[in-house]
Amino acid sequence: MGRHAKINTVTLNNGVAMPQLGFGVWQVPNEESTAAVTAALQAGYRSIDTAAVYGNEEGVGEAIATFLAESGTPREELFITTKLWNTDQGYEKTLLAFDESLRKLDLDYVDLYLIHWSTPEKDTYLDTWRAFEEILAGGRAKAIGVSNFEPEHLQRIIDLGGTVPAVNQVELHPRLQQSVLREFNTAHGIHTEAWSPLAQGQLLEDPAITAIAAAHGKAPAQVIIRWHLQLGNIVIPKSVTPERIAANFDVFDFELTDADMAAIAALDNNGRVGPHPNQFN
Ligand code: NDP
Repeated sequence: MGRHAKINTVTLNNGVAMPQLGFGVWQVPNEESTAAVTAALQAGYRSIDTAAVYGNEEGVGEAIATFLAESGTPREELFITTKLWNTDQGYEKTLLAFDESLRKLDLDYVDLYLIHWSTPEKDTYLDTWRAFEEILAGGRAKAIGVSNFEPEHLQRIIDLGGTVPAVNQVELHPRLQQSVLREFNTAHGIHTEAWSPLAQGQLLEDPAITAIAAAHGKAPAQVIIRWHLQLGNIVIPKSVTPERIAANFDVFDFELTDADMAAIAALDNNGRVGPHPNQFN
């Protein structure tokens, strides 16, 4: 078996396979994103998470193009996600913004397109979703989903009777375990994807985490990523540091015990690093 055979995939609700562990590039400047994504692809990651608002779709696209050409890896082995920014919501604006993202990424299709935030006060996500369904039907996104959607926002999309979002990407880490939202997602066939899975680094010195890490001879970040994988989350840690990029992918040779999982479960304290979706418009 090649080393990449170890990547777990999940099957989304339309049959598309998505790697459970991917690489996030928020706050990576465009000019640094090419090196970071190249390091990730070389370390074995096959899933990359960007967004129009990150301003690095061009740098990400450059890394992808070079990697595919130099390694001979087929495009279908990669899983590329981007997201529609809030100011581009609405049927017409979404279609234009999607074209622009594809152009910047220099791709014919993305694997997953997400509405970045529900922005409930604007109340435009239902119109936006109609455009997403059109993009899906045209094959230019293999799957469509949402990010930062609360159950009541998801329910309105489900009630349209069309495509159920494949993914809901939300803030999720040991301090914000999102059990209610995860249950809602699962009940509707929606996969939960964890953003800021390491709580942006804030959890790495937590004594419960460092004790588990010591017991397994692993780093704290590896323990937290493993926790996500064992819960069934899709997880997209970010780093610009090559050693950390590789370490965060080296999580398939150990397993957390039930006691480890319980100790991490006890860290849940509704601690957010980002805004609540209902307050972000
Ligand atoms: P993470 O929780 O992934 O944490 C990233 C931070 O942890 C960086 O400071 C990084 O440092 C550090 N770090 C990473 N690995 C290690 C390690 N092994 N040891 C020590 N420190 C480490 O934060 P993000 O907020 O970036 O979330 C991940 C991704 O989720 C984003 O990049 C983005 O793709 C997505 N996201 C989506 C949002 C949404 O609204 N949909 C919102 C926020 C994030 P360094 O880089 O310096 O190595």
